[in-house]
Amino acid sequence: TTLAASDFEKLQVLGHGNGGTVYKVREKRTSNIYALKVVHGDSDSDVRRQILREISILRRTDSPHIVKCHGVFEKPCGDIAILMEYMDEGTLDNLIKNQSKNINMNEELIAKIAKQVLQGLDHLHAHKIVHRDIKPSNLLVNKDVIVKISDFGVSKMMCRTLDPCNSYVGTCAYMSPERFDPETYGTGGGNYNGYAADIWSLGLTLLELYMGHFPLLPQGQRPDWATLMCAICFGDRPSLPDSVSEEFRSFIECCLQKDSSKRLSASDLLLHPFVKDVDYSVS
Ligand code: ADP
Ligand code: MG
Repeated sequence: TTLAASDFEKLQVLGHGNGGTVYKVREKRTSNIYALKVVHGDSDSDVRRQILREISILRRTDSPHIVKCHGVFEKPCGDIAILMEYMDEGTLDNLIKNQSKNINMNEELIAKIAKQVLQGLDHLHAHKIVHRDIKPSNLLVNKDVIVKISDFGVSKMMCRTLDPCNSYVGTCAYMSPERFDPETYGTGGGNYNGYAADIWSLGLTLLELYMGHFPLLPQGQRPDWATLMCAICFGDRPSLPDSVSEEFRSFIECCLQKDSSKRLSASDLLLHPFVKDVDYSVS
């Protein structure tokens, strides 16, 4: 069966992004709830290219920790829409902002989140896909604390293993040192393979969950590009309080190695004691 926009009723806006809008929608026939990401037909070619890339990546992936795509359709006006599973707790960003409200961010919860994102990344990397924009607002969560990677607008399919991937895409704040300076922090020859950059971004994201604000800068600072670059490439790793477990400390260290060749891969990190025996399944 082919999908049509008229099969769905828009309930509310879930988020705006560059070029697109994500709606919460109800399928009229079944009353099922979905998220619908719509890019307008008159958007510029970059935006259209991004959504087409996102569609092709979502079609290639199948993991409990990557948001599911239920279909794609194009309206006569040229709008392109992706029908996705709806994640009812929104993003990890919401979780950080609402921390005090309902969810108490502790190491146990961070480990559950870490393990799930790692499983999603392990799946992507095994399929030669680099996400390139891992950050709290691109990680979705539901009531059962199942976490899924989303937003593949700037992801890259690595066709050849040596294909460098060093264009400035994604959000600067979560970019790894080798994306600013592949000569110093890359895997050699000024190239880097890109996978390790996702691990860096995951490390920062987990630290942000723990600290409640972007970890490389003082709380509340809105940095320019140069300040960020300096903090990422030359700053010290943020210090964690003494109360933090050795496992958590070591896990973060493994993710936030400035030299990308020293950073562990997603599959290696899944064996790290911080996450190895963690059970996140719904009880
Ligand atoms: P953009 O490229 O515009 O950042 P995203 O795919 O990240 O697009 O979606 C923008 C926002 O919409 C997200 O940050 C999130 O708040 C919301 N959102 C996206 N997909 C879903 C979903 N499947 N379920 C719930 N909310 C979603
Ligand atoms: Mg996004």
